[in-house]
Amino acid sequence: MLECSDCGTRRSADGLETVCEACGMPWLVRYPARAPTLIDRTELRRGHGMWRFRAFLPLLPGEEPITLGEGDTPLLRVQRIGERLGLENLWVKDEGSNPTGSFKARGIGAAVTRAVASGATRFVLPTAGNAGVAAAAYGARAGVPVRVYAPRSTPPTILSQILAYGGDLALVDGHIGHCGQHARAYASDTGAVDLSTLREPYRIEGKKTLGFELALQLGWTLPDAIVYPAGGGTGLIGMWKAFGELRDAGWIHGRLPRMYAVQSTGCAPVVRAFDAGADECQPWEDPRTAASGLRVPAPLGGRLMLQSLRESGGAAVAIDDAVLEAEARTATAETGVDFSPEGGAALAGARELLARGILDPANHVVAFNTGAGWLYREAGGLPPT
Ligand SMILES: *Cc1c(COP(=O)(O)O)cnc(C)c1O
Repeated sequence: MLECSDCGTRRSADGLETVCEACGMPWLVRYPARAPTLIDRTELRRGHGMWRFRAFLPLLPGEEPITLGEGDTPLLRVQRIGERLGLENLWVKDEGSNPTGSFKARGIGAAVTRAVASGATRFVLPTAGNAGVAAAAYGARAGVPVRVYAPRSTPPTILSQILAYGGDLALVDGHIGHCGQHARAYASDTGAVDLSTLREPYRIEGKKTLGFELALQLGWTLPDAIVYPAGGGTGLIGMWKAFGELRDAGWIHGRLPRMYAVQSTGCAPVVRAFDAGADECQPWEDPRTAASGLRVPAPLGGRLMLQSLRESGGAAVAIDDAVLEAEARTATAETGVDFSPEGGAALAGARELLARGILDPANHVVAFNTGAGWLYREAGGLPPT
């Protein structure tokens, strides 16, 4: 069943829905008929990847997921980074090791699975980059064509990955908001299913597995704080939904983590709204950042992101591009984990939160490296021979 995140309207799901017909805001999936039990928890070990959590996912009995092996990403203690930043118990969840190099594989995998099972024969999506790579790959896996609208300024390696997976790539002068207008026109002309963030309810369901996996890896406990580089907001919203579902199922107890969003000072609508005490984001003029996943000037999930930050007792901070890029470079060479600029933003954000006294040096902190650094690099920079 679907429940509107804003006006509370409910309806049954057909697997091909967009946003709430009454108010235009995102649907959230609810599972009133299936309450996972503690027995399901002991059986998890037998599954693998994100679909081991299928008791919480939109897959009907007898259906099989469209999968490339997403999930089961490493949760790594990063002592040297922690010492440098002043955090004694810092961990990184490395989402760059997913198929297609980013955590977008989880959400797109779930959305493509649900839509194809419900009869989709064509997809479209606007992207700041990595969602386009994932959509092209999962479309190829399903044998369904995918039109991708991406800004011309997207890192070239990301664009070439979209093409490599057979994506039908159209470049747009502008940002993801402009791409979204093209995608909606294409969807209404062709009947393609629009996979835009929160314009269908199932990407969030895939993103929940970030939270489930973290709890599993920590023996059904959760950290004090999660530091997450937020763009469209699916990761934050998904994890917060996951923690609520785990608690309702009796799989975890006690305090939930404080959720912290990190953005770039070149595009920080969530930070601005959080600091102003607002309950929704205003569009950011002229968004600019090398962390392309964070270049989302008017997130449809703004209200839900702000809710998850406030309900959890978290906050939002913005970091300059020069600082987040330098942090990604340093941390990559320091650990062997390949940090994207977004991952660098999470680490630099943790340092900033510590400096403001919001994080304590002894806190158990998990920072997310949402994608792999190689997606942002071009060949070159080799020493002269
Ligand atoms: C898309 C993306 C983000 C932002 O993700 P949301 O969960 O939608 O806020 C962050 N980092 C990377 C690498 C991304 O591709």
